[in-house]
Amino acid sequence: MSAETLMRSHRAGSLRTEHVGATVRLGGWIHRVRDLGGVVFIDLRDRDGLVQLSFDPKWTPREALAVAGSVGQETVVLVEGTVELRPEAARDATMSSRDVEVRVSAIRVVGPAEVPAIPVSRKEGEELPAEELRLKNRILDLRRPELQRNIMLRHRLLQRSRRTLADLDFLEIETPILTKPTPEGARDYLVPSRVHPGEFYALPQSPQIYKQLLMVAGYDRYFQIARCFRDEDLRADRQPEFTQIDIEASFVGAEDVYRVVEQVLVALWDEAGEPIVAPFPRLTWREATERFGIDKPDLRFGFEIRDLSPFVRPDAAEFLRSALAAGQRVRGILAPGMAGLSRKDLDHLTAAAKGAGAGGLIWARRSESAWEGQGTKAFGLEGLAALGGSAGDMLLAVAGADGVTSPALHAVRSDLVRRPGVQPSTPHAFCWVVDFPLFEHDAESGQFVPAHHPFTAPHPEDVEFLERDPGRCRALHYDAVYNGNELGSGSIRITDPAVQRTIFRLLGIAPDEIRRRFGFLLDGLAAGAPPHGGFALGFDRITMLLAGATSLRDVIAFPKTTAARALFEGAPTPVNAADLRALHLRVED
Ligand code: ASP
Repeated sequence: MSAETLMRSHRAGSLRTEHVGATVRLGGWIHRVRDLGGVVFIDLRDRDGLVQLSFDPKWTPREALAVAGSVGQETVVLVEGTVELRPEAARDATMSSRDVEVRVSAIRVVGPAEVPAIPVSRKEGEELPAEELRLKNRILDLRRPELQRNIMLRHRLLQRSRRTLADLDFLEIETPILTKPTPEGARDYLVPSRVHPGEFYALPQSPQIYKQLLMVAGYDRYFQIARCFRDEDLRADRQPEFTQIDIEASFVGAEDVYRVVEQVLVALWDEAGEPIVAPFPRLTWREATERFGIDKPDLRFGFEIRDLSPFVRPDAAEFLRSALAAGQRVRGILAPGMAGLSRKDLDHLTAAAKGAGAGGLIWARRSESAWEGQGTKAFGLEGLAALGGSAGDMLLAVAGADGVTSPALHAVRSDLVRRPGVQPSTPHAFCWVVDFPLFEHDAESGQFVPAHHPFTAPHPEDVEFLERDPGRCRALHYDAVYNGNELGSGSIRITDPAVQRTIFRLLGIAPDEIRRRFGFLLDGLAAGAPPHGGFALGFDRITMLLAGATSLRDVIAFPKTTAARALFEGAPTPVNAADLRALHLRVED
């Protein structure tokens, strides 16, 4: 559809050489004004970009020239004029309409603007104002061409996801926002009921139970661009409300789910102009943590972790020997070309390892002729020779339980791959991480907690451990990982109500509590449940990565801060006593 309305003929930023000679009417924001005394140039902005308006006594009436000379930045104007080619020397490659300008015959202010609190137009290289200030003045910030590009990319990605899934025969079905809690490992946002004193809805942490019930109800393939809410202690890269591409399908195994998710991801990357290929390689969770120290490995880089325990000398330092005696391991990375790391670099890497829980970092470097450094004592020259490696390599090692060495070596590896000269082997490294453990042990509560969520099916080969040794049981749970980022998670679900009850019991949920919280799911599973499974892709993160943005806040129109505040509109906010009373609530000091 054309951009024409009653007030304008074109969008300013869409004018091109093909429009030369045309009379146009435009509406937009005053981006920049250059008053050369007698002649005025204004850059006019709308969502398509910028066009130069030129005001000159030769073609602009006096009243219009006066308006152009006095109009403030960010004011909304309607203008009329003719499109002309700009002189060769005056073409501006930074403008979408670089080759043309509009010679203005009339201008009218329709939306006066106060002096903007933060600038929308920036000179090249000019720093952005502090983020807090930008979030407070979100409207002005949202006018920035970079954010407009991100938000428009987001729109295209949303449309493309919908089209792709609809073409694969998935039905878009909405599930409630006022819900019964679905546990996904975070706290619920609660909504008090006015008509039922003392009762609460929860905002959905995900549509998990509803989408499973849709499978039981026979809808076969579901998707939803779902808004989810999780009240977590916020980390820098989380938002309390976020968007998932949520998928569920019946009569499927994990392979079917991988295929659908791969098709969605290929489509999304294509929409952003990045061709990628599927299928993606697979790693088990065990392999991923063994080789990369983490369950979301960045496969663009090498620097794999190795078990160095067999190479530790019998007369190595006491802490190494006692670690091995306690059944722990010495693991490390043989980093090619890193022998030149300075004392300062090594201190930095040591701090990274310690920050992740390690006691310290052992190193040895291989110069042209020989190994040197404290690691020579730990492994001996024979040990180091047996490890392989060549001149210019650096060995970095850590001792301890896997729960310590994995995060420490992941931290070391992450630091190494960011060093100058380290090149990724490919721009896009996707993989599936599969066979996660079913449970994690929560040190604080001493309880098992689901590694994914409590509806995930145990791995059929491990069902025997479910009661006996739950920590050993793997799950039919898989994650999609891209360049070290988790893009989403999913699983094949439990369909047997008895197994589902067992899982709840192992999680320490009492029988009456099971009935109260999950009775509707158990009843559903008992009503004839097809085998089913699904996935959810973190849509905000995907958009951020495809936009080349560094913060989720740059791809969400009205985001929250890391402290879960909306600074522009001012939320959360206290409510008055009468409203609280109506909800049967009282705030304690
Ligand atoms: N509900 C899960 C989540 O939000 C995804 C899934 O299992 O489909 O992470």
